[in-house]
Amino acid sequence: MSQIIFLVLIIVAFGLLGYSFSRVFKVMKQLKPFKIKEIGKRFIKMFDVAIAQTKIMKRPVVGLMHALVFWGFIVILIGSLEMIIDGLAGTERILGALGVIYDVIIAGGDIFAMIIAVFVLIFILRRTIFKVTRFEGKEMIKKTHIDALVALSLIFILMITLLGMNAFYSLWITKTGVTLVGYYPIGEKIAELFGNINENQAHFWYKFNWWFHITVIFLFANILPYSKHFHVFMSVPNVFLSRLEPLGKLDTMEDVKKEVKSIMNPETAFVTDGSEPTEIARFGVLDAQDVNWKNYLDSLSCTQCGRCTSVCPANITGKQLSPRKIMMDLRMRMKQKTSHLLKGEKNFEDGKFLIGNFTTEEELWACTTCNACAYECPISINQPNLIIEMRRYLVMEKSSAPAGLITAFQNIENNGAPWQFNFEDRLLCTDNLELKGEKICVPTMAELQSQGKEAEYLFWIGSAGSFDDRYKKVTQSFVKILHYLNINYAVLGKEESDSGDIARRAGNEMLFQMQAFNNIETFNRYNVKKIITCDPHDFNTLKNEYPDFGGNYEVIHHTVFLKDLIEKEKLKLNGKMFFNKTVTYHDPCYLGRINGEVKAPRAILKSLNVNLKEMRRYGKNSLCCGAGGGQMFKEAEKGNKEVFIERTEEALELNPEIIVTACPFCMTMMTDGIKYKNKEESIKNYDIAELISLDLEL
Ligand code: SF4
Ligand code: SF4
Repeated sequence: MSQIIFLVLIIVAFGLLGYSFSRVFKVMKQLKPFKIKEIGKRFIKMFDVAIAQTKIMKRPVVGLMHALVFWGFIVILIGSLEMIIDGLAGTERILGALGVIYDVIIAGGDIFAMIIAVFVLIFILRRTIFKVTRFEGKEMIKKTHIDALVALSLIFILMITLLGMNAFYSLWITKTGVTLVGYYPIGEKIAELFGNINENQAHFWYKFNWWFHITVIFLFANILPYSKHFHVFMSVPNVFLSRLEPLGKLDTMEDVKKEVKSIMNPETAFVTDGSEPTEIARFGVLDAQDVNWKNYLDSLSCTQCGRCTSVCPANITGKQLSPRKIMMDLRMRMKQKTSHLLKGEKNFEDGKFLIGNFTTEEELWACTTCNACAYECPISINQPNLIIEMRRYLVMEKSSAPAGLITAFQNIENNGAPWQFNFEDRLLCTDNLELKGEKICVPTMAELQSQGKEAEYLFWIGSAGSFDDRYKKVTQSFVKILHYLNINYAVLGKEESDSGDIARRAGNEMLFQMQAFNNIETFNRYNVKKIITCDPHDFNTLKNEYPDFGGNYEVIHHTVFLKDLIEKEKLKLNGKMFFNKTVTYHDPCYLGRINGEVKAPRAILKSLNVNLKEMRRYGKNSLCCGAGGGQMFKEAEKGNKEVFIERTEEALELNPEIIVTACPFCMTMMTDGIKYKNKEESIKNYDIAELISLDLEL
């Protein structure tokens, strides 16, 4: 009889679960594609991030607690599978035949049940009594907290009934005088508390806990797809399916690529791939049905842990943006559209949209694309990509963007730079440069070609390096170093045009692609193979994004280039000028976190013999300066502070004599911050290239 009841229970539980999953898959099929390549790499990432839980360990205490809960679940799952076999077959502890292996697994499950129960209680207290800031925020409405508490309570019940089951099983078996199958270190201790009960009572309570436990498992499994704890199922597959590209690489819009190609070369645009122009449904994302299925999976997998929001510079400084909310908004909106998507009514409209009714334009424009959120997310969700998709809709479909960005777009279109400067003047920044009394002539690629020569390196000056008054000085310092070291290099001069980084991150994919195609054509004309740049934004774009358009180069940031020369002893520093000066280094997001280069600048600073002090947030965990993602060209959204002030204050905590940067935007922000704090007299702001140039007295 009990087997029949169990069979019915299991059919209902798995039937309902299958129904829930089938709905998810059907919705995913309605959405845009997401390509899955490099399966091997994906397995490595899955084992690293999801199974070994390496990312979550960045916060060691809470990280270890979560990791133990996760690993515990895996061990306990084996016991649950045995329960299902026993329930169907009418057997008792069928896997006991495994002997010692069984003992280890069961003992592991027993101990983990205790650990998980304690940790879950702590998690409940953190949400209810201690009100951990990370769990608060405008998106964390009462319902989300109740949802979390229900799931945590069910996990607690699961662990208590598991321990109860183990305790009364061991008590019952001991009282019957039969050999105990399995080892229950915690269960047997609990059993000692109930030593007075008889064999029948022990058997009753064992069975009671057994049935209670398995029923709660089935109930919990069926609640999960509708709760924030869906990540129990989804986190491992979500990490497996996560983006493998560098953090800062944005997805290329293939439809736009076709259009841009047709504009640039109408005759050959559709010849290469054999496809005909297709009608483009919508650029970017306006509503839930416009996302790709991986975005949807992200929204379902989000644990609402708030790690992303806690590191978001916009959120930290009181702006409306919260990357967690971006994920929660999508999930909420998709829930409203699910029944229609299931009926294939993809174009169903109810007068509401993801942008506007859920996520506001103000939130979207506050993002600096620093990628701190994506770097922090324990299940490798990429929030900035979705934000950019929504910006793409705003810019390309609605022609809506903050005024400063519209001007920057126009300037890039007309002058090849986000500022209103003539492209003919790009090389003015190197006029009248001297090295040890001799005039420096900066070679251009065109000049070298006319002499039948080729340069080994293209020095990509970038728009800021050419036109920003402060950063022109960095360009000059770097040029002096190149000449001092007799590096075989050249620049593009007036043939250089903006990389398109700002346009792309501000949602103007069309303009970015035009810039990319044009620049690649120029590079190809001069057979460019190696590019050096002082701008981490351009470094990221040229290195990670131009390959999608056929531009493959060895791109080197100037800090790496200089560090390598120091290591090879081709560049010998004096190490006197800044000896023992108290210095702090601000990691540019696009160099440090996004492209992983945190060592080279520090190695150079070490060679300069400075007294380097690190800020609270440094290296890959550095706080953004607030200028990326187009912010440099627009007013900041309302908040309680500007991001650059927050970052400057962090630097000032160390009482530095010099704040060092390696990026034009960071330079502007830190300079503004120092001015804002009236510290211009006592604190200098230098780029790494300037420090070297000064050290060498060039
Ligand atoms: S990329 Fe940076 S600014 Fe944008 S949402 Fe993520 S953390 Fe916030
Ligand atoms: S997106 Fe990632 S980091 Fe942010 S709340 Fe969700 S799971 Fe946590």
